[in-house]
Amino acid sequence: MSDTLQISEIPVEGYERVVRGIDPQTGLHAIVAVHDTTLGPALGGLRMWNYESEEAALFDVKRLSKGMSYKSAVAHTGLGGGKAVIIGDAKKIKSEALYLGMGRLVDSLGGLYTTAEDVNTTIGDLEIVRRSTKYVSGLSRESGGSGNPSPYTAYGVYLGVRAALGWAYDNDDPKGKTIAVQGVGAVGGALAERLAEAGAKVFAADRNQKRLDELSKSHGIEQIAADEILTMECDLLAPCALGGILNDESIPKLRTRVIAGAANNLLLKPEHGKALADRDVLYAPDYVINAGGIVNVSVEFHDGGYNEEVAMRKIERIPQALKELWTIAKEEDIAPSDAADRLAQRIIAEAKAAKA
Ligand code: NAD
Repeated sequence: MSDTLQISEIPVEGYERVVRGIDPQTGLHAIVAVHDTTLGPALGGLRMWNYESEEAALFDVKRLSKGMSYKSAVAHTGLGGGKAVIIGDAKKIKSEALYLGMGRLVDSLGGLYTTAEDVNTTIGDLEIVRRSTKYVSGLSRESGGSGNPSPYTAYGVYLGVRAALGWAYDNDDPKGKTIAVQGVGAVGGALAERLAEAGAKVFAADRNQKRLDELSKSHGIEQIAADEILTMECDLLAPCALGGILNDESIPKLRTRVIAGAANNLLLKPEHGKALADRDVLYAPDYVINAGGIVNVSVEFHDGGYNEEVAMRKIERIPQALKELWTIAKEEDIAPSDAADRLAQRIIAEAKAAKA
């Protein structure tokens, strides 16, 4: 094992700990950002990305880490927020030694941060990290973990979609509703299937033609071009592919009254939440509706370990959380996305005050 790992602190205001790990021998250049652990140990995935600079990586890991604090606070997972990034091209730099070094970096935080799978890292990669730290979650069921989070995310999004239909149309039954799903991957595909089974008219777009054809055959899902999905007339749009799709350009062209989907960071900028509200488009804040996966993983931290029943009951609270946010938004005349941020900040601040 390499013994050339150098760990250094990066002081960042508003963050509990930010550490950098560099190992010239393995090529590891990573940053772990622990935003807040008031509510519990920080949990968040390990992302590998070819950032153009350390500054860009730091910007991203800070943003993601804070996002995890908010997501966990509103979902009452009993966890705080953190995130880790490894800088580099996933096709070139992955190695056993690199992941063992990453594990040592995580371990150096003594449990303040627990890592998990994220963009460009797999369960297999995390199994290697696990050899040098016990602070790894979301491993396979065989390894004692909670397994693949996607089906749980999809279940929560489905329940959230129903809640949004109920709020906007006074009837939460998807039957007969026209629903557009952007991206039918792990989460969007499962969502599209559930909605079709419930009698909705589902339209889907994806770059993966094979998956679209499968869904058309198995569930009668109608296909629509990727550049038309966001502007098609529908009762609800469920974006389950990319972030940043709700922006100055797309919002004026929307022909739906409701947006509720799985993708993270759907609003390009926070003010786009207000832009949606101004157009009377009901928005389900992304990190609230897509919390099923993190809720599922968080059950690993319960006494007695992971229990699927407990996870499902907690995921079933997502519709209630959304309704509370829409109520606050209406009463205070703010965007639901701003209501979610304020609620998260309040939950954390109150817990901090109670601790003090
Ligand atoms: P995935 O990679 O399995 O699926 C994404 C799908 O989107 C793919 O099929 C891809 O071909 C498609 N796609 C990409 N660009 C597209 C485009 N321009 N137009 C149409 N389709 C496009 O990912 P996933 O796990 O299903 O996650 C989907 C989204 O939900 C991501 O934004 C992810 O961050 C978010 N999310 C996922 C989870 C989870 O548990 N998997 C949890 C929370 C949030």
